[in-house]
Amino acid sequence: MKLRETLLSTAVNAKGVNGSENKPDELLRKVELNGDDHEMSGKLETPMKEGAFAINDETKIEQIEQRFAEIMDILGLDLTDDSLKGTPHRVAKMFVSEVFQGLNPENKPQVRLFENKYRYGQMLVEKDITVHSYCEHHFVPIIGKAHVAYISSGKVIGLSKINRIVRYFSKRPQVQERLTEQIAHELKNVLKTENVAVIIEADHMCVLTRGIEDSGSSTITAHYSGKFEDQDYRNELLNHVRAIK
Ligand SMILES: [Zn+2]
Repeated sequence: MKLRETLLSTAVNAKGVNGSENKPDELLRKVELNGDDHEMSGKLETPMKEGAFAINDETKIEQIEQRFAEIMDILGLDLTDDSLKGTPHRVAKMFVSEVFQGLNPENKPQVRLFENKYRYGQMLVEKDITVHSYCEHHFVPIIGKAHVAYISSGKVIGLSKINRIVRYFSKRPQVQERLTEQIAHELKNVLKTENVAVIIEADHMCVLTRGIEDSGSSTITAHYSGKFEDQDYRNELLNHVRAIK
């Protein structure tokens, strides 16, 4: 988290320190999204095959259970052992009903809009939203936080819906860049505004526990659009994110 503090504080101070407005972009990677296009473009969508939901969840669990038992068997594990025999079913159920439930559009949160009756025109920031996702390259966890902000177009949504949207797109095999974009895209759609920002900072278990085994690094991605493309709005948001509770 020390890295995070450094990055965010550098981003906030960059303009004042050296007059450069580009510094935060170098540090907080901005992933471009094609402007006003509210249709999810090919690269934004999680790649799914045709007929992805032709079989029901129960059948998926049965089939994954069989295949996972085979993997364990190939690894040489004794599937008659008391401790191991339930694992294929547990893993299959966990994949379908828990950690990858966000693959199924039926689980997408329904969002109701409300009038912005307090005429609140400033940014609303929902910070430190839990992100539990899975790296699609290694199928190991991505654990982090999302900070989401929007400026109302006249409509608002219940705060917990923001958490639910983050959760829905997290519950898929993911790459952090796509997760960031999918959340931003969905928020723009439901809130009817381009004034949306999403920052995700996360630890990738594929980096921490295997390969390079670097437990000191974390990954930050950000999407800024509408008013958040303006440096002052970004700095205000980053100050809110950094503020101690
Ligand atoms: Zn990975």
